Amino acid sequence: MSNNKFKILIVEDEPTICSFIYTLLDTNGYKTYVAPTCELGKSIFTSYLPDLIILDLGLPDMDGVDIIKKVRTWSNLPIIVISARTAASDKIDLLKLGADDYLAKPFDLDELLARIEVQLRHHGRSSAIATSNDGVLRFRDWTLDPQARVFCAAGEQLSLTRIEFNIMEILMRHPKRVFTKQELFEQAWGEPYAADDNTVNVHVSNIRSKLKASGTDGYLKTVWGMGFKLVE
Ligand code: CA
Repeated sequence: MSNNKFKILIVEDEPTICSFIYTLLDTNGYKTYVAPTCELGKSIFTSYLPDLIILDLGLPDMDGVDIIKKVRTWSNLPIIVISARTAASDKIDLLKLGADDYLAKPFDLDELLARIEVQLRHHGRSSAIATSNDGVLRFRDWTLDPQARVFCAAGEQLSLTRIEFNIMEILMRHPKRVFTKQELFEQAWGEPYAADDNTVNVHVSNIRSKLKASGTDGYLKTVWGMGFKLVE
C-alpha cells in the first residue's frame, strides 16, 4: 500500500515541531493534518478519519492523557505520544492508558518515521485478518462475500438491499474504524454527501432490524457525535 493512502493527524501546539513533522510526513507521501488544540484535532478527526494520531501531551485546551482515554472509548487507531515528560513511569502509564508508542522530546525524525511505519503495518495487519484467501470478509458471526454479494449472520443468509450490503462491506473491511455518516454515505452510495443525516440512520436501522433474528444486531454500534463502528 502506498503511503499516500494513509492519513496522519498531528495534535501539537508548538509550531516548530509541527512544521518539522509535517515536512517529514509530507515528503514521505503521507496525507498530513495539523491541529494545535484538542478541539481542532477532534473536528479534523471527524472530517478526515486519520489512520494514525501523533499526540503531544501538553496542549492548551486539554491534557493529552485525557485525550487518549477519550479516543480509546471509541477507537483502536494507533496513537504515538510525543512528550517532554520523560520518566519511565510516565511511559508505562501512557502505554497502559492505550497509547501505542511513546517518543520523548527531543526525538529523532527518522526514529519517528520508523515508529509510524511500524504502527501502520501493525494496524494494517490487524485489519487484514478480517479477509481470508477466498476474499470473504468475516466478523464474529457474520460473513460477507463481496463477489457473490452474499451476507450471512450466524449462518443464515440475509436479504440486504444494495445500499445495506455496501454499508456492511465498508464496515467489515475496516472493523476497527469509526465511520462518519458522510463517509458511509459517500462510499455506500458513491455520491457526494447530501447533508441529509437521516438517510444513513434509516439504512443502519433497517440493517439492525434484519439482524435482530440472528441476535447480532448489537455488533453495529452508534458512536454519538461521530458515526458508526463494529463492536469486537
Ligand atoms: Ca505542547
